[in-house]
Amino acid sequence: MRYSPRSLVGKHNILFFRGFTMFFLSCLAIRLNLCLSSIPSSLKSLPLEGHLNFDEVSLRNVAKDFGNRYQYHPMAVLHPESVSDIAATIKHIWLMGPSSHLTVAARGHGHSLQGQAQAHGGVVISMESLKVPEMQVHIGNYPPYVDVSGGELWINILHETLRHGLAPRSWTDYLHLTVGGTLSNAGVSGQAFKHGPQISNVQQLEIVTGTGEVVNCSAEHNGELFHSVLGGLGQFGIITRARIVLEPAPAMVKWIRVLYSDFTAFTRDQERLISSENTFDYIEGFVIINRTGLLNNWRLSFNPQDPVQASIFKSDGRTLFCLELAKYFNVEEIDAANQEVEEHLSRLSYIPSTLFSTEVTFVDFLDRVHVSEVKLRSKGLWDVPHPWLNLLIPKSQIHNFAEVVFGNILTETSNGPVLIYPVNKSKWDNRTSVVIPEEDIFYLVAFLTSAVPSSNGTDGLEHILSQNKRILEFCERSHLGVKQYLPHYNTQQEWRAHFGPQWETFLQRKSVYDPLAILAPGQRIFQKAITFS
Ligand code: FAD
Repeated sequence: MRYSPRSLVGKHNILFFRGFTMFFLSCLAIRLNLCLSSIPSSLKSLPLEGHLNFDEVSLRNVAKDFGNRYQYHPMAVLHPESVSDIAATIKHIWLMGPSSHLTVAARGHGHSLQGQAQAHGGVVISMESLKVPEMQVHIGNYPPYVDVSGGELWINILHETLRHGLAPRSWTDYLHLTVGGTLSNAGVSGQAFKHGPQISNVQQLEIVTGTGEVVNCSAEHNGELFHSVLGGLGQFGIITRARIVLEPAPAMVKWIRVLYSDFTAFTRDQERLISSENTFDYIEGFVIINRTGLLNNWRLSFNPQDPVQASIFKSDGRTLFCLELAKYFNVEEIDAANQEVEEHLSRLSYIPSTLFSTEVTFVDFLDRVHVSEVKLRSKGLWDVPHPWLNLLIPKSQIHNFAEVVFGNILTETSNGPVLIYPVNKSKWDNRTSVVIPEEDIFYLVAFLTSAVPSSNGTDGLEHILSQNKRILEFCERSHLGVKQYLPHYNTQQEWRAHFGPQWETFLQRKSVYDPLAILAPGQRIFQKAITFS
């Protein structure tokens, strides 16, 4: 073959560029290796009260989460004993500049679903090791409050505040989660219709930002940081202390379940209850798909109001909707509480034979999911994959959603609860980072599914994931205005769509509080810049 001078020049150019590129890439690799190999020693030299652990076993432990699907090994785990341990570590990494690949993830109780508390090759901060400040309940103020470490578990806060006859107002369904972990999302449960999510019940925070600064903030003081961090998916700083609002705690809870077969009646009652003053203290609901013998199971813990009628009731595989209510009371107020409950129930349109109730202590009510955890653990069914999907759905679209999703997509008995309950948007602060639908009332619909390991059937991971995908595609296609709660996306384009008009603010806040994108890499919103200047 003959080459024209032009094509020869072209070929030389190509060879030159190839050679140059290879040379450049190998320089990068050497530089990166040098950088990587010197990182542990530079971290090891940090003067800390706590310690950094580089041991393989502990790295493996923090590369897991409740979702059981994503595993990224960090380079080190920090067990802080003080806030300055956290600040010093982050400042050190910040000062390394953009040429270091190191990132930092706070790990609360590791109950994320898709690796959100992990940091591949980075530093994971075990927030539960941070025991300062010691929990302190302040009763002289109105409202009373408790100061807690960001790594504190909500169950411990419950026990400590109860010693003073007080408790936080807003909860999650499960209490073995940390303050920092739930405040980074929102913290939603059956009290949210009344008090808002947990992020609406915090007065002050102490934050270590992505540059290693320790900053105190509240709505009035450093308000921009305060609101950024609440619902901020760990992107703007590490929550090291939180001041949580308290209220007088009841001793007992009347816990009620009633069933509906008519979705319209079910949502009408739910919406009426959350819009009226002084009805119940907790309002949730769940969907029952294709189940038989359901009420027999309930009988183990709930009493039917009319045992004869209840025993005749057959669910026959129908889709049913359970309204779950709770009324708090103290023992001496039992008669008044019963009367109030009866009045409220008399205005509802549930199937009369399906009224079940029980009375439990406040602690047993709030810690109810832990009982299931213990049972599932004993059967080896807790540490399985959890392909959960949590959605926030505008009230105007909930019927459309239910018709398609509960009618066509979810036709099998789901392997885990499907929660559905409305909340009032007025109880959410629109200055925080959390993304919610536009309407005054929106529903939380939570598909809390467990997958049976290595099953290829309808209870297997693949099937559940494809079902979730169909649900999301339907929401997208039908423009329902749905937002994911505990959101998970793979591309920045999807994150932009999730945040919508809030994206610019989110971006701007990131550039101020974590300019190198060091924090919470497991959320996959930003990638730490690597330049080789
Ligand atoms: P992790 O999983 O450890 O962390 C979550 C995210 O927050 C990560 O990005 C992490 O880097 C970041 N983070 C952790 N700590 C801090 C900190 N101190 N400062 C800054 N960022 C931090 N949620 C609800 O709203 N309502 C519910 O009813 C509810 N029930 C649940 C029940 C179960 C069984 C489970 C497993 C989860 C439930 N969740 C619920 C979801 C839960 O709120 C989130 O998964 C939460 O993130 C878990 O808290 P964690 O302490 O395990 O956080």
